[in-house]
Amino acid sequence: MQHTSLDPSPTAFPSIDDRERYSRQILFPGIGEEGQRRLREAHVGIVGCGATGAAAASLLARAGVGTLTLIDRDFVEPSNLQRQVLFDESDALEALPKAEAARRKIAQFNSGVQVRSHVSDLVPENIAALLGDAPLILDATDNFETRYLINDFAVEQGRPWIYAAAIGAYAATMNILPRPASGADAAWEPTACLACLFPKPPSGPVETCDTSGILSTAVNLAASLQVTETLKFLTGQPERMRRSLISFDLWTSERSEIGAAKPRTGCTVCGQRSFTHLEGADRPHITLCGRNSVQIHEHHRPVDFAAMRDRLTPHGQVRFNNLLLRFERAPHTLTLFADGRAIIQGTTDVTVARSLYARFIGN
Ligand SMILES: [Zn+2]
Repeated sequence: MQHTSLDPSPTAFPSIDDRERYSRQILFPGIGEEGQRRLREAHVGIVGCGATGAAAASLLARAGVGTLTLIDRDFVEPSNLQRQVLFDESDALEALPKAEAARRKIAQFNSGVQVRSHVSDLVPENIAALLGDAPLILDATDNFETRYLINDFAVEQGRPWIYAAAIGAYAATMNILPRPASGADAAWEPTACLACLFPKPPSGPVETCDTSGILSTAVNLAASLQVTETLKFLTGQPERMRRSLISFDLWTSERSEIGAAKPRTGCTVCGQRSFTHLEGADRPHITLCGRNSVQIHEHHRPVDFAAMRDRLTPHGQVRFNNLLLRFERAPHTLTLFADGRAIIQGTTDVTVARSLYARFIGN
């Protein structure tokens, strides 16, 4: 059959011209042609691909940042759809890992961005490998344990990172520009690090979006502030970056700012260079995810999903793809990742979760 010019053949859709795609951003004086070229060469590591991480990844990919490394340990659930902008209903129904769902979605709106997705829990043993050579790290995690780990790694390496948090209607963020590890002159004046302001992680119960709720607007504000600072850094304008911890409550319109322009004398991390979180001291093997679930990552071994399905089928309902296996046995759902890590839903009792893991997955 003859093709006419109206046929929707693949060649009818030429690739999108970058000059046109980024034209409005190039018009902005803070970016310009040179800034846009720098963004294409840039690489940003994002730790966490939940609400804040998905919003930040979407903004950076649309802005034309050439390479993104996305690290996330979790999978998409229906309760994420209210605020996690890169995921849709089919991702939640499939329980697709967030890092992979984000990679697929970004490819649909900017195929020029290289996305390295890691379905993994960021821990001291893998932080250097997973973040690779990303010169800037964005915090989009939901827990202080990981933030202090990022702070140790970033200060040790002399790499900038940007803290961001959102809970309820509240959003907070802070730029951390450490001294270069080599002792060479930095392109920036060093700021305070996370431990300069807060020497110890908060103790006792911490509010999470699973206990206190969250507005998607708070997430998007945190991500917008974080990504704007990222654009300043990537276009070679670190002197324009804010040097304070800033927070907003969108519901009450309260705003606060704490100066963080200089490192605190005597800070154990950036002053004494003691990196206890990076060394993994006292790190628990089991992490509570905040919702009605427990994560177990004691066994760092690859899993054969087909063999595991055969083993689990007599005991409950099993589904798997190449990224994860879901085993449902009321009232619990066990989600097993390829590295042997599991999230057990339906309990907050670590002993129950451990015993389910030992019984069904083994040691
Ligand atoms: Zn410090």
